[in-house]
Amino acid sequence: MICLDHNATTPVLPEVYEAMLPYFTEQWGNPSSSYKFGAKLKTVIETARAQVAELIGAQSRDVIFTSCATESNNAAIQAALKANPGKRHIGTSAVEHSSVLNYCMTLEKEGYRVTYLPVDREGLLKLADLQNAVTDETAVVSLMWANNETGVLFPVKEIAEICRARGVLYHCDAVQAAGKVTIDVSRDSGMQADYLSLTGHKFHAPKGIGALYVRRKSPFSPYLYGGHQERGWRGGTENVALIAGMGKAAEFARKHLPDYEKKVRPMRDALEEGILGYPRPSDGRGAGGEGIPNTELNGHKTQRLANATNITFHGIESEALLILLDQEAICASSGSACLADSDESSHVVNAMKPESAASRQMIRFSLGLENTLEDVDTAVAAVQRAVKALQS
Ligand code: PLP
Repeated sequence: MICLDHNATTPVLPEVYEAMLPYFTEQWGNPSSSYKFGAKLKTVIETARAQVAELIGAQSRDVIFTSCATESNNAAIQAALKANPGKRHIGTSAVEHSSVLNYCMTLEKEGYRVTYLPVDREGLLKLADLQNAVTDETAVVSLMWANNETGVLFPVKEIAEICRARGVLYHCDAVQAAGKVTIDVSRDSGMQADYLSLTGHKFHAPKGIGALYVRRKSPFSPYLYGGHQERGWRGGTENVALIAGMGKAAEFARKHLPDYEKKVRPMRDALEEGILGYPRPSDGRGAGGEGIPNTELNGHKTQRLANATNITFHGIESEALLILLDQEAICASSGSACLADSDESSHVVNAMKPESAASRQMIRFSLGLENTLEDVDTAVAAVQRAVKALQS
């Protein structure tokens, strides 16, 4: 199996698995218990909190563990709305993950007004559009760091500055950025989001564990009411094993961030060139690559993650191509994994190129640390075969 779908999820690293094991077996206490067998697990949670905080340049006490980024995204938006009961407007973009979009659509039914900011053909946002959208009625702006389908990066530092200047709370879904680009929310030099969401399974921790950063003094009220866990900000007995795993994975991600780009970008570029083709070098040395005819990149060429490429295969339905690739044990996708079992075409590519059929004829490839250049060669050959078969 060759997985080229790491924006859907990533494998748990052996060291992450090892770090979790004791809390499934011998150390199964409840961290809220007063006796040592349970209470000593508080230290495990606090170590992991410090590791996650360090990944994003935050202080430990500003990080809450959640069950996933869907929860973090919902919790942040809800907290911002509760803090501003008189303000009934939300700003977001047309290309956010469903955990933001579907929540915003639900809020519309409850009487909120939502602006879904457009993106251009390269998936980029116009800051002037954000400036114009924000009014005195705006309670919160939710704009992602990196797009899960195209890898396109939004200018989050500038977005945060605009929101600050207008006195509007800013939530950033940083799920796809974690472990791939430097995240720094520190007060002096970092980007000043009020809330920032993460999930462990996109950077080699298990599924079912997430985190939410809440800037000191930014308003927060619980999303889940219950016990005093997480300083009363999120009730529910902590999942010590998964928290320990997310901490270990965050430590790994921080330490290996420079290697990530170096390892993954050349593979992504080779995959992209194999499919899109590339021109003969200007010095005339070496040949160009023909690539597969009628293919087109979706997303800005440089302002995007190093691991992702989103390509339209004109005239070929995404699902047909994915089935043939699956038969060759190659995993890729036609958008977010969360919507893979629905009939919907990609809302992200549709927002970029609404007039074309691109949103039904695209494939998202997203590479990861365990891929090799050999995997890429195999995948390019498989894509070529599949496209030929579908055209014949
Ligand atoms: N936000 C983005 C950008 C994502 O890519 C995902 C997962 O695909 C999520 C949020 C939701 O994450 P989780 O599966 O942890 O709820």
